Amino acid sequence: KAVIYWMRMGDLRIRDNKALNHASAQAQKDGIPLMVLFILSPQDYQAHARGARRIDFMLRNLKSLQTSLADLDIPLLIIEETERNVIPSRLLSVCEKYAVRALFANMEYEVDELQRDISVCELAFSKGVRVVFEHDKCIIEPSVILTKQGKAYTVYSPYQRNWLSVLNSDIARYVEEYPPPTANEKCVRSLKLFSDIFESETPRSVDGFELAENDKVKMEEVWPEGEVLDRFLSTKKRSSQLGATNPLSAGSEKCSKSSRIAKYASDRDQLDTDTTSRLSPYLSSGVISSRECARAAMRLKKASKVDGDRSSGIGRWMQEIAWRDFYVNILAAFPRVCVGRPYLEKFSAVAWENPQRVGSGPADLQEDAESVQRWKRGMTGVPIVDAAMRCIDTMGWVHNRARMITAMYLCKHLMIDWRVGEKYFMETLIDGDFASNNGGWQWCASTGVDPCPYFRIFNPYSQSVKVGTGFTVGASFIAELSLQADPNGDFIRHWVPELRGVRGSDLHNPSPALADKVGYPRPIIAHSEARERALRRYKNPGDL
Ligand code: FAD
Repeated sequence: KAVIYWMRMGDLRIRDNKALNHASAQAQKDGIPLMVLFILSPQDYQAHARGARRIDFMLRNLKSLQTSLADLDIPLLIIEETERNVIPSRLLSVCEKYAVRALFANMEYEVDELQRDISVCELAFSKGVRVVFEHDKCIIEPSVILTKQGKAYTVYSPYQRNWLSVLNSDIARYVEEYPPPTANEKCVRSLKLFSDIFESETPRSVDGFELAENDKVKMEEVWPEGEVLDRFLSTKKRSSQLGATNPLSAGSEKCSKSSRIAKYASDRDQLDTDTTSRLSPYLSSGVISSRECARAAMRLKKASKVDGDRSSGIGRWMQEIAWRDFYVNILAAFPRVCVGRPYLEKFSAVAWENPQRVGSGPADLQEDAESVQRWKRGMTGVPIVDAAMRCIDTMGWVHNRARMITAMYLCKHLMIDWRVGEKYFMETLIDGDFASNNGGWQWCASTGVDPCPYFRIFNPYSQSVKVGTGFTVGASFIAELSLQADPNGDFIRHWVPELRGVRGSDLHNPSPALADKVGYPRPIIAHSEARERALRRYKNPGDL
């Protein structure tokens, strides 16, 4: 007999993992072994546009977890199921084989995953297996933070204020740390039933999601598996760009004035220096929990409550963690965003240059106008956009500000359906996460909750260099976008070598003659023309 913890791709850790902790407690109570199961599902990865980098990162973490679990005499069984529809029955056949009494897992809130888990519950019920799903992805689970009318918030600021107050009103509960599982009895290894699992190895790749060897080596260097929180909290320098050396070098947990977190409130929008945590790959894959971030923030402050003051580094950083919770809430409350639909239905009819089939998931979209190809390759002729896209292509990650600039450029300058960009980011980013990515794209395309208003069409040239000429009015975060992103052009110079020798404002907006001279493309469309077209099409969705 056994208890199973079913690990999914968003909770790759053994420390502070609620379902695993509860599964372990159940196994101890019943005096039976705990085993961990992971099901590889290439069809799901395909359907949800999972990229090879994300899959490779998942496998690397699984391998290291397999070793850590083996040290506790807990077997990790990894199986592959090619037909995603049969995952529930395959899971139950595993339960039957190992005489499983109880199955534990952490909730996944996306529509396909919920439907799968409902089938699991139905099957398990018919076979007498107890099933427990836990909320573990967010600090505060979906449906807790509601408006006075009992509805989900669709505006971030009041959500965040409420989030902070609920969190601090029951801080011990929300930031509770769940200890790692208790070791199985040593003799479990000699049980014939389990011995084959201890011999199973994590595969090096999943068919259809293999990484090119040089990319694999680079990803391993830049995004090592395992926990990395301390590297953000420390004062130790990382490389100024996501560049040649590993930017996530280890350090100790201190909060001096010069640590990144201490300067986060003032520096976080700079693209040209190393200002943010770069923890998103680890949070998206669940290698660290968001609770751990909150606890670390409290430790640094030596406080018993979470600081949400946007003028302090730690407080401002916690607000970003709240954004993550916010977008998970949105997908749980408005599942239509999971199936390729805009939150603001009125923008369903916007005339994109490349109309997409509405109602399908992001993976079903057709490809690829020439302008899209140029965007993906970082050849739009707009230096800050191209730098961002080349950074994504090379590193599987780029700063939030660069994501916003390049996403808005695709939707509003090129008038390309935001779902094309959403899919490309999922395929390419190592931190690809449905809720945050969909939220980010719909914000930029002005189709989402609390979005950037449609008539704010930033000027990508002034975005990178001048103060105050991007967005100048509106909500505070829009005003913030008008701060300098790359004032000295270091970010552009790093990623766009054609422009490396260019000095001054030409770097941000090279003239046609200069572009031709240095072999850099001319812009696809002039800013004023693009702006006028976008305003027209958003104002009257359906019109060309
Ligand atoms: P920090 O600034 O150190 O923030 C700490 C953590 O807070 C992040 O790791 C992340 O988990 C969370 N966070 C920060 N900003 C946001 C945000 N705007 N929305 C939601 N959570 C946030 N984030 C992803 O994790 N996966 C994605 O696929 C993703 N796609 C995006 C697409 C677009 C178009 C945009 C505009 C944003 C997207 N984001 C995504 C959000 C954000 O860009 C990244 O989380 C952030 O850049 C990660 O860098 P960091 O870890 O250094 O963040």
